[in-house]
Amino acid sequence: MKPDIDWANLGFGYIPTDYRYVSNFKDGAWDEGALVTDATITLSECACVFQYSQSCFEGLKAYYTKDGHIVCFRPDLNASRMAETAARLEMPPFPEDRFVEAVKQVVAANKDFVPPYGSGATLYIRPFMIGSDAVIGVKPANEYHFRIFVTPVGPYFKGGAKPMTIKVSDFDRAAPHGTGHIKAGLNYAMSLHPIVVAHQEGYAENMYLDPQTRTKVEETGGANFIFVTKDGTLVTPKSPSILPSITRRSLMYVAEHYLGMKVEEREVLLSEVPDFAECGLCGTAAVISPVGRIVDHGRVIDLPSGMEEMGPYTRKLYDTLTGIQMGRIDPPEGWVVKIA
Ligand SMILES: *Cc1c(COP(=O)(O)O)cnc(C)c1O
Repeated sequence: MKPDIDWANLGFGYIPTDYRYVSNFKDGAWDEGALVTDATITLSECACVFQYSQSCFEGLKAYYTKDGHIVCFRPDLNASRMAETAARLEMPPFPEDRFVEAVKQVVAANKDFVPPYGSGATLYIRPFMIGSDAVIGVKPANEYHFRIFVTPVGPYFKGGAKPMTIKVSDFDRAAPHGTGHIKAGLNYAMSLHPIVVAHQEGYAENMYLDPQTRTKVEETGGANFIFVTKDGTLVTPKSPSILPSITRRSLMYVAEHYLGMKVEEREVLLSEVPDFAECGLCGTAAVISPVGRIVDHGRVIDLPSGMEEMGPYTRKLYDTLTGIQMGRIDPPEGWVVKIA
């Protein structure tokens, strides 16, 4: 059924589509999986996901390229990251090749919901997995539900990406025992209060520091940091407790191989942030959101790139990566995966 969607005014909310992909794990094995039409899940009140939050997810998007194909961007990296997250949560990894096939299947089945090229809107793809059988003693579930639904979403920035003001948070993003490098709702649950507080204070986002020393930059609730030095080096924090963003890894490659920039992945001290020329947050949804100002307990750090627009290096990185994604610039082998 052709949906009646006003692509130009689409927001960032859930719109159910025709099909979702489902596979269940039972007696030690994943079943063959299928596309289904039911957008609801019925579970025991004692399902492990409800009691002990055994759940994880991924996020990627499908869209039309310039030459009229439906594609998605590096789904193999979402597959491998979800397998790593699952292992840390004692969940059975969904096979990575099947993950990529399932993404293709569910997007193809919902192709009428892929927004047109140039609209800025995309089809957001949400794979997730939950512990689905009843567990009351604290232990991993025996059965799991893997599902991928898709939902069309509007452009992340309506009317251009204005630099934002963020704050250095008093909260730790994730539990300090190393759950920061997994993509799981439990980390997001812990970020809800800090982000509500930040918004009440007028900040767009939180900069979290390492919980041990509170001197090193980690990430925000849902995006990695990139910085650019005054001489054009891309610097991004290295830490065992930040989520390995696919966008950030792609930007590092683009910086080095397309733009000839120097790239450093290393510890970044809060004390050196005032020396940087540009700052941005990177993730699938927005690609790069520029940061113009960082407030550290009353101390204001203004990035030289200012509050009007992205800095020049950030702009180049943004234009090159989105150009690769949209088929305007030749991609590295395997980055842009054709679905239809
Ligand atoms: C998803 C996510 C990101 C961004 O990763 P991408 O793969 O670029 O979308 C960054 N930080 C956290 C905590 C995340 O969950």
